[in-house]
Amino acid sequence: MTVDTIADGVVVSLAYTLTVDGQVIAQTEDGEPMEYLHGAENIVPGLETALTGKKVGDKFSVTLDPEDAYGDYDEEDIEEIDIAELPAEDLEVGMPLEVEDEDGYLYLAFVREINADTVVLDFNAPLAGKTLTYDVEVVGLREADEEELAHGHVHGYHDFYEYMDEDED
Ligand code: ZN
Repeated sequence: MTVDTIADGVVVSLAYTLTVDGQVIAQTEDGEPMEYLHGAENIVPGLETALTGKKVGDKFSVTLDPEDAYGDYDEEDIEEIDIAELPAEDLEVGMPLEVEDEDGYLYLAFVREINADTVVLDFNAPLAGKTLTYDVEVVGLREADEEELAHGHVHGYHDFYEYMDEDED
């Protein structure tokens, strides 16, 4: 069965350019669209909503407020911690770090500032608080297979989601 309209459970091949503050920060290469599973929160909510009902060949531009993208920037979501608590590695401003809390949960943080004895970590998503503009073209559509639907992501796409499968398969 062929799919001609974007709906939940459809794998979408998308060519896109993402612009933030007038700067292109991500884009797909010609002939190498990204694939995602529609309706599975694989992409930001505003873009998913804008794509619903679109067809192959549709091209459009959409500008998303932070609440429809990566959320507002939360100034409280910043923590200054003792540098001795971090794994001994070469710290750089902007680098991502996985931080474990006392209950063993892992959080992704970004190094915002490095001082003599402390490091300031930012737990906001890198694009939190940003207005995002996506220029997109729907390149292809297919039905997801059962395994993809069960996992909530696409398979065979640059093994992008492989790390998620380690516990599942
Ligand atoms: Zn999977």
